[in-house]
This record gives sequence, structure tokens and C-alpha cells, in this order.
Amino acid sequence: MRITIFGSGYVGLVTGACMAETGNHVVCVDIDQDKIDRLNAGDVPIYEPGLDQYIERNRAAGRLEFTTDIEYGVKHGLFQFIAVGTPPDEDGSADLRHVLAVARSIGEHIDDYRIIVDKSTVPVGTADQVKSAIQEQISARGAAAEFDVVSNPEFLKEGAAINDFMKPDRIIIGTDNPRTTELLRALYEPFNRNHDRLITMDIRSAELTKYAANAMLATKISFMNELANIAERLGADIEKVRIGIGSDPRIGYHFIYPGAGYGGSCFPKDVRALARSASDIGYDAELMNAVEAVNDRQKQRMYTKISEFFGGELAGRTVAVWGLSFKPKTDDMREASSRTLMEALWAEGAKVRAYDPEAMEEARRLYPNEPRLALCENAKETLLGADALAIVTEWQEFRSPDFQLIKDSLTHPVIFDGRNLYDPDTLVSLGLNYFAIGRSGVV
Ligand code: NAD
Repeated sequence: MRITIFGSGYVGLVTGACMAETGNHVVCVDIDQDKIDRLNAGDVPIYEPGLDQYIERNRAAGRLEFTTDIEYGVKHGLFQFIAVGTPPDEDGSADLRHVLAVARSIGEHIDDYRIIVDKSTVPVGTADQVKSAIQEQISARGAAAEFDVVSNPEFLKEGAAINDFMKPDRIIIGTDNPRTTELLRALYEPFNRNHDRLITMDIRSAELTKYAANAMLATKISFMNELANIAERLGADIEKVRIGIGSDPRIGYHFIYPGAGYGGSCFPKDVRALARSASDIGYDAELMNAVEAVNDRQKQRMYTKISEFFGGELAGRTVAVWGLSFKPKTDDMREASSRTLMEALWAEGAKVRAYDPEAMEEARRLYPNEPRLALCENAKETLLGADALAIVTEWQEFRSPDFQLIKDSLTHPVIFDGRNLYDPDTLVSLGLNYFAIGRSGVV
């Protein structure tokens, strides 16, 4: 089948590569010339495990193209996927500028039947706006062309995106026209073989399903972080509590890890956008507001702990930071907890020596010429001249470090662990002070 995908970011590239992998002819359109040039030169601008091989293989086979030529894209695909960003607007609502720009572009060039498939995360009612934007452009040209708009929210996880796309838990299709259901069923057939994972519903419910999923996941995290803060003050160990509650199958062990707060390009903005959608219709989404407030506070926890340890005297101190991406196996630093920590430390006159296995290029882009940030070659190098170590992202390579080396390198033998990677008793026995989330050990 012929597919066009607008937006060559995390979702667009993974969708394009996976759709090409199953034999479709995919054209990816982006307005970022630099990104398209890099892709055409065989360079993948983001880190996502396995994505580079998928892109290379399918580009070589002629099934995957990258272009900034919008007209070529609109003429190419029966399916026109929208996978552009929907960043938070100033008032917390989803900024639909890019989605509607794509809709207008399609309207300017459409001359035959097209199915517009919205993969971006968008508030309820956006499909109607997309429809109107396309129709306005068609009418302005005095032309006529038939099209349908479908909501097909994406549930992939950065770091496991290829596997999530190839073997999805579910494929949500929101449509008001049965013919599109059958065409999308055929398109998704290769990803739907083991058992039927395709769930069809009306467009508005599909749009809301994506927010509901992210809001539930964010709620689980904020719930555990709230409990961790209580556990800490009561002298309990949240990790033991986690195992204790997870054993109840109604709760389960998945996604109940306490930590330094959630970040990334989805949970923060989607919780905010859902709360905003609710308030726009006169409903105060108290739980969503609380989930966000707990998370904002949690992202400050690492800084608070460090500041308390040093008696509020951070000027002139240096903190080694392990992990910059918002979670392991990605280079994405959007709304990452590392940024909250580093910026709070800098504001108090401290310096940071940081290392991340994949996000160094992104850190350099976000903080160009930042004199208070030293980006180091490896985890060991961050410790040179540092007063303390803070772990923000749970990359595998941080799980079993040389604790003796850490102790010998730091001017203060202290680890602040935002992801509860270590056993407090072990660290204390090695002479290291250890402050984690909802559990601690002091020498
Ligand atoms: P991204 O920022 O990585 O990529 C968006 C791309 O769209 C950029 O390359 C940008 O240049 C391009 N773009 C902007 N305007 C354009 C236009 N008019 N025409 C063509 N291209 C244009 O975004 P992302 O992380 O891939 O997210 C895309 C959408 O998918 C968002 O709505 C997001 O909420 C949702 N989503 C993201 C994830 C994730 O893990 N990143 C998961 C599920 C859903």
C-alpha cells in the first residue's frame, strides 16, 4: 500500500520504518530540511534501538523515502498519517498548530480520495477541525476531492518503539465511516496476526482513549511518589511496600516504581492537556491537577535532598549527574527530571558534571555553551572533582557501579539515587551515605 507520513520524529519515523518493513511504500514528509537531509544521508537523527537498521534496510529496498515536498507526499499515499508534534500551549492545552498546518497542506494538494489518519495525540474534537481545515482548502481552490479522517492514536514507548509498533497491545481505530475501518484493518493486518487487537470506536472516544491511557500511567507514578514521600518520613522502605502491594493482582507490579518524577514528551503535556480540556467544558479535573502537582514537586526532590545534605550551601559545589534522558534507551530530554535538577543546582551556584549513554548530543543542543555543565565521556569521569553523585536515569550501565571508586572519587561519600537502584544497607556497609526515593541509608 502507499502511505505518506507527515512528521519524522519518534512516532513518524517508527511508523514509517515499520510500515515499510511489511512491504508498503512509505514517503515521510517533514518541514525540517536538516532532518530530511540527514535521513537521506543515512543518518538517523534520534536514538531509538533498532530504528537505524529498519530505516537503512527499507531505504535500500526503495520502500522508504524522505522528503520536504508536501505535494509529492499528498499525491503519493492513500493513507496520509499525521504524526507531528502537539506540544503544550502556554495554557496547558495541546497546541494544534502543526496538526492543522498538515491538514491545510493536504487540502491544498488533494485531488483523489485520501484517508487522513491522525496519530498525533490530540484533544477530543480535533478530527472535526482537521476535516474543516482540509475542506476549506479544497473549496478555496474550487476543487472537489473526497476524504475521510480517522483517529488512530499511537501507544509506542520510546526505547521499545519498534517492538511496540510491530507487536502492539492494541490498535485503536476511531472512525465514523465503516469503509475506513476495513481499509485500516487491511493496512494493520501484518501487525495483527496473533489475535485481533484492532479496537474500533467513534472518533471522539478514540481521541480520548490516548489521554486516558497516559493519564492512568501518570497517576500510577504520582501515586507511588506520594507514597514514597510518606514512607520516607515514616521510616518505611517504599521498595518493600511496592513489592507488597504489587502482589495483589488487582494492582500488579507494572509501572509502580517510585522515582524522581515522570518526564518525556507525553505524560506531562497530556495530563495537562486533559485537565485543560476538562476545564474548558467547566469540569475541574481535580485528580489530574493533583497528579501534575505531585509530579512537579517530585521533580524537585533530588535537588531538595542534595541541598539539605549540604545545609543549603551549594555555591561552589560540583554534582556528578548520571543520566540525562527522561528514561533509559532514548535520547529524549523533553521535560526530563535531569533538567529540573541541573537548573536548580545552577541557580544556587553549583556546577554539574554529567554523562548519559545516548543523550549527550541532545544535552549539547539544549545547553549550548553552558559553563556550569561539563559533559563527560563516561560515568567514571563525572566523579572527578565532584562533591556528590546524583542518579537520575536508570540506564543499565549504572546498576552495578564500582562503589569503592565512587567513594574514593567524591569529596563527600554520598549518592542521591532518583531511581532506587541500590540496596541502602550495602551502601552504608561500604561507608557511603545513600539518599534514594522513599528509602535511605546514612553512615
Ligand atoms: P517529534 O517532535 O519527535 O516530531 C515531530 C516532527 O514533526 C518534527 O520532525 C517536526 O519537524 C515535524 N513537523 C512539524 N510540523 C510539520 C508539518 N507541518 N509537516 C511535516 N512535518 C512537520 O514528535 P513525536 O515525539 O514523534 O510525537 C508526535 C505526536 O505523537 C505527538 O502528538 C505526541 O504526543 C504523540 N506521541 C508521541 C509518543 C512518543 O513516545 N514520542 C508516543 C505516542 C504518541
